[in-house]
Amino acid sequence: MDTDPISDLAAALAGGGVRIVDLTQPLSEGTPVLQLPPPFANTPGLTRELISEYDDKGPAWAWYTLTVGEHVGTHFDAPIHWITGRDGEDVASVPPERLIGPAAVIDKSAESAADPDYLLTLADIKAFEAEHGALPAGGWLLLRTGWDARAHDQDEFLNGGRTPGPDVEAARYLAEEAQIVGVGVETVGTDAGAAHSFDPPFPVHNFLLGAGKYGLTQLANLAQLPPTGALIVVAPLKLVRGTGSPSRVFALT
Ligand code: MN
Repeated sequence: MDTDPISDLAAALAGGGVRIVDLTQPLSEGTPVLQLPPPFANTPGLTRELISEYDDKGPAWAWYTLTVGEHVGTHFDAPIHWITGRDGEDVASVPPERLIGPAAVIDKSAESAADPDYLLTLADIKAFEAEHGALPAGGWLLLRTGWDARAHDQDEFLNGGRTPGPDVEAARYLAEEAQIVGVGVETVGTDAGAAHSFDPPFPVHNFLLGAGKYGLTQLANLAQLPPTGALIVVAPLKLVRGTGSPSRVFALT
């Protein structure tokens, strides 16, 4: 009899009983990037410069220099990204135990299709918890909006700044009361497009990162996850002084 959980997991992966879902968007020069209005500075997207490519500078190898903002594509927000979390963890300081955990998936794709300004409310979260149990301790709330289907196109993805996300009350609950370690979304940021006008502005960033929790953005394939029961693996670069990092994110279902 085999009672080793790692062997059991390996067997389940090999046998198809556990499936891996890639929650990561492809990262390329075409990846949509957040656009802030003036006077704010914007992040560059991904560009790459040739070092050598099987040529005189490197006859048998190809490699490139990347230029990429920390907050581009599917990426992780560390507490120090926001002023409320400035004394908190950088990306390299995040304990790995907090990067692997259970996920709850709230599906607001129908609502977001009907209204791109859709705001997730505390009542929505309470209704989910009444049906599925409390948001998971040490885990993640993932907000499904169907926005991943737009990620091939910058304009469609940014939608003129009209994108769904949590409202102020929901953000406060997720930061201060829910036992989760982070919030993940399919949109360009964890806050709604209209969140610049909220009080406080950008409440998910303000409350969540201020509470030492984390954000995940530009996720894909949340439609393939159950409301509860998936385990997610978040793998940002171990970037010293990093405020964020492009990340590979997997779910085991
Ligand atoms: Mn970010």
